[in-house]
Amino acid sequence: MTLRARLAVAFFVVLLGPVLLGAVLVASVLVTAGPPEAQLDQANLGVRMAVAARCQHLAATAHGLALETAIRGDPLAVSPADAPSPWVLCGVGPSSVPLPPGNRYGGLAARAEVRGPSGSLIGYAYAVQPLDQAFLDQLSAAAGARLTLLDEGGEAGARLELGASQPLPLALSTSPAPPGEDFPVLIAAGLAAGLIAGVLGWWLAGLATRPLGVLLGAVDRVAAGDLTARPRVGGRDEAGLLSHGIDRLIAEMQESQRLSVTDALTGLGNVRHLAESLRREVERASRFGRALGVLVLDLDRFKTVNDTYGHRAGDSVLVEFALRVRGVIREVDLAFRQGGEEFVILLPETDVPGSLTAARRIGEAVRERTFTIGHRRGVVDHGAPDVMVPITVSIGVAVFPRHALTGTEVLDAADEALYAAKAAGRDTYVLANGVVPEQRSRASGGTTSPATTAAG
Ligand code: GH3
Ligand code: MG
Ligand code: MG
Repeated sequence: MTLRARLAVAFFVVLLGPVLLGAVLVASVLVTAGPPEAQLDQANLGVRMAVAARCQHLAATAHGLALETAIRGDPLAVSPADAPSPWVLCGVGPSSVPLPPGNRYGGLAARAEVRGPSGSLIGYAYAVQPLDQAFLDQLSAAAGARLTLLDEGGEAGARLELGASQPLPLALSTSPAPPGEDFPVLIAAGLAAGLIAGVLGWWLAGLATRPLGVLLGAVDRVAAGDLTARPRVGGRDEAGLLSHGIDRLIAEMQESQRLSVTDALTGLGNVRHLAESLRREVERASRFGRALGVLVLDLDRFKTVNDTYGHRAGDSVLVEFALRVRGVIREVDLAFRQGGEEFVILLPETDVPGSLTAARRIGEAVRERTFTIGHRRGVVDHGAPDVMVPITVSIGVAVFPRHALTGTEVLDAADEALYAAKAAGRDTYVLANGVVPEQRSRASGGTTSPATTAAG
């Protein structure tokens, strides 16, 4: 279960819980409390009065009926003739006619004596009010509460008897009202409330977890190797602080990644970076049908510089050398320190002529000005005068795909060309396959002149 789903459930419960709890409490109070004493008394009074009025009416009807019946000489008359029995007699009550179990009284009746011409009792006339729903409704209205008719075998637990003070076996109904017209409306309202609470809960959960989602997305991207990802969650709350922390972490990862591919002394790429870049650049050149120039550089007689001026002085020459190289190659060209005083330059989209031009420029940039080793650089004793050291470099040049078809092979070809340049007297560059296009002539007073020139 996701955090959002868990929060949504929590919000749902928080939103709908109080409503449900309130509904349950109200329902339980209604069910358990029942009608209060005062309501019972009022109902009793109302029913007694309504029944008394109806009994008077029935008695008048019964007397009229008795007179008619006496004239005809009949001993018994009932109005209405099909009135359902048994009846509760007005003024006598239900005890006068005991009910068999499970049975119900059918009507409320008034009785009048039927007497013959001699005045002797010959029978009875009954006027009956059926105890139908219409009559119960009238009584309920008079009682101000819903009334039901008691029967002997009926369930008494759910109702309250009105008591002996009124003639009919009636009870106040305490059972829940039967589903009425508003029941479906209540169900629909409940469902709608649940739905709204659910949607609201889901939305609130989304709102609460959105910053986490953003943070998670950034962390996923970083884990996949994309160190440009930034969470960018503002604010000073926990999510904002977390975002800030992740930002700092990514920056540190970027820095350590940069350091892991950077040569600490010169700031150029290191061997590891060279291997990756060579593979990537050869692949790119191969895909787009372009050339890739590869230069391998080695400082000439560098051991002498170290031996004469010290290792730290040598280091400062290497730093200066790297700066000069960077200054004459293009922005897109890649420079690496392969180790010691050996360097490699990758020249994307550069064929043989362009690579040779780059090699010549580098040679010139190194040769044309002496390297300064002095106290200003803090590499020799303070107070000692600056020392100007002439430095030269030998360069091997190879071009993909002209001289080799893989990164390693093209690097090897450039390496061999470098040996050739050293063998040719140093301070020069040689194209792979032994081609020496240009060679410095020390004898001619420090100018550069071409040696042998041939196609690679
Ligand atoms: P050449 O290449 O022209 O044949 O002569 P070389 O004197 O440069 O010969 P080699 O490549 O054999 O010597 C390399 C020297 O570079 C050895 C060491 O004194 C120096 N060197 C290598 N790495 C470093 C470094 O990190 N700092 C300094 N200061 N010197 C280094
Ligand atoms: Mg070397
Ligand atoms: Mg060397």
